[in-house]
Amino acid sequence: MGYLCDLGSGQTVYLENVQHQTLVTVASSYPGQQQQSSSGFQTGSWTAPPEVLRSTIGLVVKLYTDQGEWFISIQGSRLSVLNEAPSLAEAQPLQVQSVAHKPGDSRPTMPSIQPMPLMTPMPPMTMGNMQMDRNTMSMQMGSMHMSMNPIAPSASKASQTNTAGSHTADEQRNFCSQCGTAITPGDRFCAHCGHQLG
Ligand SMILES: [Zn+2]
Repeated sequence: MGYLCDLGSGQTVYLENVQHQTLVTVASSYPGQQQQSSSGFQTGSWTAPPEVLRSTIGLVVKLYTDQGEWFISIQGSRLSVLNEAPSLAEAQPLQVQSVAHKPGDSRPTMPSIQPMPLMTPMPPMTMGNMQMDRNTMSMQMGSMHMSMNPIAPSASKASQTNTAGSHTADEQRNFCSQCGTAITPGDRFCAHCGHQLG
């Protein structure tokens, strides 16, 4: 939310109060050329909409904040805070309109909502001797096997009892090497993922 003022001859000024700062952006567009300069001023929070005046000393932005009144002079693309209130007796106020967004060069006024990219199914993650499979919620780390499958209790029990002895061979026979699902010894294919078993 900010305020936009057309200064004429292709120049606009955009005013925004961000926390206790006033951001002033002067944009000039000439044929084939775009210029923009921004400055931030510690002015405090606005208490009223800003005013833009064309005075004898040039363009002046008048701000009403909780720290008092501020005057910022705009000279071309140069912005400076005036220490004293300028004589605005013959100043002409310019039309300031409130806008929701800072006008972009070519961006539409309304932010376009990008559709979220579809989640691609993750292949099993392998890290050294650690394997994780999101499909079965199972994890294999060396001889250790964890699984969230309905048959997990028996699987984890089997791997626990196996850790005492020579477990590697049993392990490979009892669990699918692809997805880690417990399999019936003698099965040629994993019932879960169809992986051909050794
Ligand atoms: Zn499998």
